[in-house]
Amino acid sequence: MIARVILNNREHNIDQCFDYLIPDGINASVGMRVLVPFGYRNVSARGIIVDILSESEFDNLKPIKKVIDSSPLCSKEILDLCLWIKEKYFCSFYQALRLFLPPGIESGVKEKNVRMVSLSADKSEALLKAEEMISKRAKVQGMMLKVLCESSPLKTTDLYEKSGGNSAALNALLKKGLINISDERVYREAYNKNNYAPSEGYTPTAEQKVIIDHLKENISSSKFENILLRGVTGSGKTEVFLQAIEHCIKCGKTAIMLVPEISLTPQTVKRFVSRFGDMVAVIHSGLSQGERFDQWNKIKNGEVSVVVGARSAIFAPFENIGIIILDEEHETSYKSDTTPKYHARDIGEKRAMENGATLLLASATPSLSGFYKAQNGEYTLFEMVKRYNKMDMPTVKIIDMRNELFTYKNFSPLSLALQDEIRKNLENKSKTILFLNRRGYSTFVSCRQCGYVMECGDCSVSMTYHKNLNQMVCHYCGKTASIPEICPDCGSKHIKFFGTGTQKIEEAIKTKFPEARVLRMDTDTTSHKGGHEEILSSFGRGEADILIGTQMVTKGLDFPDVTLVGVLAADTSLCMDDFRAGERSFSLLTQVCGRAGRGNIPGRAVIQTYQPQNSVIKYAKEHDYINFYNSEISSRRRLNYPPFCDIISIMASGENEDSVKGFMEKTEIHIKKYMKDNPSVFSINGPTPAPLSKIKNLYRYRILLKADSNSSHPLLKELTKIGESLNKIFLSIDINPTNMF
Ligand code: ADP
Ligand code: ZN
Ligand code: ZN
Repeated sequence: MIARVILNNREHNIDQCFDYLIPDGINASVGMRVLVPFGYRNVSARGIIVDILSESEFDNLKPIKKVIDSSPLCSKEILDLCLWIKEKYFCSFYQALRLFLPPGIESGVKEKNVRMVSLSADKSEALLKAEEMISKRAKVQGMMLKVLCESSPLKTTDLYEKSGGNSAALNALLKKGLINISDERVYREAYNKNNYAPSEGYTPTAEQKVIIDHLKENISSSKFENILLRGVTGSGKTEVFLQAIEHCIKCGKTAIMLVPEISLTPQTVKRFVSRFGDMVAVIHSGLSQGERFDQWNKIKNGEVSVVVGARSAIFAPFENIGIIILDEEHETSYKSDTTPKYHARDIGEKRAMENGATLLLASATPSLSGFYKAQNGEYTLFEMVKRYNKMDMPTVKIIDMRNELFTYKNFSPLSLALQDEIRKNLENKSKTILFLNRRGYSTFVSCRQCGYVMECGDCSVSMTYHKNLNQMVCHYCGKTASIPEICPDCGSKHIKFFGTGTQKIEEAIKTKFPEARVLRMDTDTTSHKGGHEEILSSFGRGEADILIGTQMVTKGLDFPDVTLVGVLAADTSLCMDDFRAGERSFSLLTQVCGRAGRGNIPGRAVIQTYQPQNSVIKYAKEHDYINFYNSEISSRRRLNYPPFCDIISIMASGENEDSVKGFMEKTEIHIKKYMKDNPSVFSINGPTPAPLSKIKNLYRYRILLKADSNSSHPLLKELTKIGESLNKIFLSIDINPTNMF
């Protein structure tokens, strides 16, 4: 027989299949890794078998040297998927395969075992022996044997603890043939099960029932379908997921549940673990390599049926998948910004198709392109427009911050109206969440005399002041610098902080409301392991009245006693230089306001802004997704932006600005020639320095293309090939990148 092997080599020119003979008597099948001879000198190369054939079109095949795995590392479905990813996202086969394997599988990580002791003799016999030993100066051995008579098997460490035993005595018992010792595999756990009491499903509301029934039917009949669920915040989307997954397990199928990293809070994990117990694996970025490896193995070995995780969990090595769910479907974190630049939704759709599964995309504020597909019938649309408890959506007040300064002479970052609302909440002992789209103390340092702004020398972005470090920090590369006392440009002493950060809000609150108990949640306070969990559970236990935070407080939090949400500066996200700024602001405002009034008391939200007339803010105030969508989609159509086309970013970066620029000018000529014969690529912009023209000392130039969506462009493959032959210039291609920097 013949094995078709793809070699593990970074060089693109051998990123292809080679045929090898399988020597007689050797067990080799698809998905196993192998060592094969390669090149004139027959050096050993690693590879993976992607197909088994009875004959090959090539002669003089060399035999495989060695098969590394005793069972396949991945299924045929996954290998085919890797080939598809390679084509779609312009990467090598191995870059694709790596997505499906846990980090460290090639070198590092080992299985974790514990040593178990069990009784091998008959119990009554052993008990007699134990008594005899205790009376005859072999007391330690006797005590150990006695404990084993009560419970066997035991971990050696537990046995020592219970009996006062030791390893010498253990060996003596082993020699006497009274016990057995074995190593047993244990899994490093991703969560502590004991923290989660079991829970039962709720009786679905009428709106929930419609979709749950539909999903169950799909799962039972292995029907592939793309579904978009738009459900307002608090409508009980998670309960829908839980009941669909429960049905999956009943049918002997598996389920992949994706949530954005930022909402993968202990609270979220709890809802799944308490419902499904041991059937759940959890994958998130806080896991150690060993923990991650073990979660992967549990999935691979079929010991769990559900995985809950962030983006990368879409690659879980499940078979027989019944449902794949992306909660908060609109989140940009589902798109990878490193090669391969995949979108979890596309991988999910492909896997759902291969498995006869349902792809369920859910959000309170679906992405514009997702809802557009639902309107066109590409996705089946379901909607849940009521909160599960029939509570109203929070009432939203918009505060014009320009009046604060000029009319009320209020210099605080908290408007008078927001201060009033906070005071009411403190009196009523209700909780408040304050959201600021920014971390740090003040945004930047600038000179009032000449306008100098302190920037990171490596990244061309302004640096941010962090009070706890008393340093300026670059949020792109992490570089720190001390604060200048005089302006480096003009020598003036009027160099000042501008803007507002979470720390500054915390201080403002403490000044106005000294009695309030305040928690702050941002990257600075949550950077240590478990920091996130500490703050949330402290807030959940009622140890604070006000939670101040960045993006982290907007997602997935379900605290029934939060009745007030304050958005301190709605403008920071609106001013973003990106055609999706409106979409993102709307979703952010809706999400954050949705944290209020989830219990029995109606919620209120206060949005502070310098642009009160902005239509996005008005739609958010009315919780009016549909009209927001209609106005936004018509402007996208008019300006020809996605979903009406794809935007393709071609970025080159390198240390030498001239050579990067020169290369991109040649590329421009190449593309323009291509466009003459291929109208599917219809617009080119650039090359220009990217908005972030320098990161970590690399100069960046960009070309933006507009092209027909859903079609493949051979041009991009050509460019990838050219990119691979370059020296000291990195070329990357991104289709519909999530940020335009
Ligand atoms: P969403 O994800 O749509 O914002 P959740 O799934 O978090 O909403 O539900 C909000 C709250 O409502 C949760 O505390 C949940 O336990 C509760 N809930 C959801 N569905 C029901 C139901 N059918 N009966 C009772 N409580 C429910
Ligand atoms: Zn100056
Ligand atoms: Zn930097």
